Amino acid sequence: MKPRIALIAHDKKKDDMIALAAEYVDFLRGCTLSATGTTGGRLINELGLEVTRMHSGPVGGDLQIGAQLVEGEIDCVIFLRDPMTPQPHEPDINALVRACDVHNIPCATNVASAHLVLSQLQSKAD
Ligand code: PGA
Repeated sequence: MKPRIALIAHDKKKDDMIALAAEYVDFLRGCTLSATGTTGGRLINELGLEVTRMHSGPVGGDLQIGAQLVEGEIDCVIFLRDPMTPQPHEPDINALVRACDVHNIPCATNVASAHLVLSQLQSKAD
């Protein structure tokens, strides 16, 4: 089965997400991707990836991804959080990260850990 990956980036991390996804674009084309609204829009428009877009994070997109995860529909989460900026939807962010821990789903919350997770998944797919 194709890896099912969720991609989320806070505003100040969106450029990092695009750069990261660009490095793995060939691998990501072979994955089933979902993303929060704005992150997903950029992945589609800038990299031509096929992405199922949820609502934007602050209006429930993180929770939608969390619900997919709880249903067993997500194998890995790349969640580039901004630790320096307060987020209005902090409870939703915590809920998603908690759901990852409850269900033992890898959750990379910074670029370094995202590289480790994506390179591992990519090497399994080769
Ligand atoms: P966004 O949501 O991709 O719609 O910006 C991410 C977030 O801020 O949680």
